[in-house]
Amino acid sequence: MTAADIAALTERIADPARVITNPQIVQRLSHDFYWYSPILKQQLDDKTAELAVQVVNTEEIVHVLTYCNAHEISVTVRGAGTGNYGQAVPLAGGVVLDMVAMDKIVEITSDGVAICEAGVRLGALEVAARESGWELRCYPSTVVKAAVGGFLGGGSGGIGSVAHGGLRDFGTVRAIEVVTMEDPPRIVLHEGQAVHDVLHAWGTNGIITKVWLALTPAVDWAQCVVAFDTFEAAFTFSEAVAVSDAWTKRLVTTFEWPIPSCFAPIALYTRKDKALVFFMIAAPQLESLAAAAVKAGGEVTLADAYTGLKTAPLLSDYTWNHTTLWAIKQDGAFTYLQCGFDPQNARAQFAALKAKFGNEILFHIEWMKRGDNTVVPGSIPLVRFTTEARLNEMIDFCRSIGVSVANPHVNNVEGGGRYREDNVQLLTKYKYDPKGLLNPGKMVTFQRMDAAV
Ligand SMILES: Cc1cc2nc3c(=O)[nH]c(=O)nc-3n(C[C@H](O)[C@H](O)[C@H](O)COP(=O)(O)OP(=O)(O)OC[C@H]3O[C@@H](n4cnc5c(N)ncnc54)[C@H](O)[C@@H]3O)c2cc1C
Repeated sequence: MTAADIAALTERIADPARVITNPQIVQRLSHDFYWYSPILKQQLDDKTAELAVQVVNTEEIVHVLTYCNAHEISVTVRGAGTGNYGQAVPLAGGVVLDMVAMDKIVEITSDGVAICEAGVRLGALEVAARESGWELRCYPSTVVKAAVGGFLGGGSGGIGSVAHGGLRDFGTVRAIEVVTMEDPPRIVLHEGQAVHDVLHAWGTNGIITKVWLALTPAVDWAQCVVAFDTFEAAFTFSEAVAVSDAWTKRLVTTFEWPIPSCFAPIALYTRKDKALVFFMIAAPQLESLAAAAVKAGGEVTLADAYTGLKTAPLLSDYTWNHTTLWAIKQDGAFTYLQCGFDPQNARAQFAALKAKFGNEILFHIEWMKRGDNTVVPGSIPLVRFTTEARLNEMIDFCRSIGVSVANPHVNNVEGGGRYREDNVQLLTKYKYDPKGLLNPGKMVTFQRMDAAV
């Protein structure tokens, strides 16, 4: 980018203070949590944009895209930058488009749809929804910080997924408004099935500006921790609760020991050498759950009210990909995989993995509902990293025994595991970003068709 480009872009933004050239800040705004992966860390550490623009409305986005399209400058859109795979790390310099100042909640409708701008933090949306008698169907453990546009652009599910599936399931995302990188940019509404054109496309085929998200009626929740002597016993009890419609739950997480030893702030609720299960359960069912846990041989180490995202301790802070964060904090040799075990065959799959890799792999299960209404043991196992070859051997072995892997050590949509077989994300990129300027390099099957390349 030239000084003239920076001056021209600054002219198009109402407040020049929102056009950032300070290299340290631009670099910070160019990075996310890619360093969870030792492989991505090596690939992405030195990648940075040249400029960051903090937009406050769709008009400013249109101005930035118009200029960048005409001058072939790449644009990488960013929410809070909590993605794990370098999704928001620009590979080709250019502009980082920071969305978090576009943070208006337009409406929580009486039939339970949140209408909001893409920069709204999910935590703020959850609070607003609950004030109206609703709550998010699912949210990542980064809920307080993550933006709704970033969740749709790069996330998949989280707390709530055990009951409501992932983001792409059950019509949770009702509609998405995007700005395209065409000449001139257009503002397009994707509704119903058409949301999948832009969902989980890593900002490669449009800038999400506004979102319609279906909610679910708010529940009075409680939290519960149960310790079991063995992972097998913990898995069996968590499975029984997860798959049964009799329990109203928002979170069912199962940890093999020694994973809980990484949870220093909640050591009080862990037991040495024991597996743990974390629950968010409907408050009226807390007593019955505790009784059932004891009957199954467990020790209830916490059974308490949940009073919102400020509850202390907040169990969800130790689940989903926060588990990996606590482990890496304790031992930098840890990394992770994202797996799906076969609900009919999970125990045999655990045994096969243990026989081959021992404690190089530690089981962390997140129970989740799939689009076909079955509840399955999703997993974000911890892995002790030695070499890339060994990691790939583990991935190959998982797949050979029927354990699916969404590889978190690759930096493109297609390799990451949520790419759509029907290619709608790619087809949309050809339409909306024909020059390939949006987050270039992240949709690797895209090839620029015009003569300029
Ligand atoms: C500790 C930890 C725990 C996590 N737990 C979970 C979890 O439980 N579930 C889960 O799904 N993920 C999880 N993640 C990943 C991440 O936090 C979530 O996906 C989160 O929703 C991303 O939001 P963000 O605003 O930080 O997005 P960013 O990281 O800023 O962006 C993510 C992707 O979306 C694109 N994007 C951002 N804004 C837009 C927009 N307006 N239009 C189009 N594209 C856009 C970006 O270019 C990027 O490719 C976790 C990450 C960490 C570090």
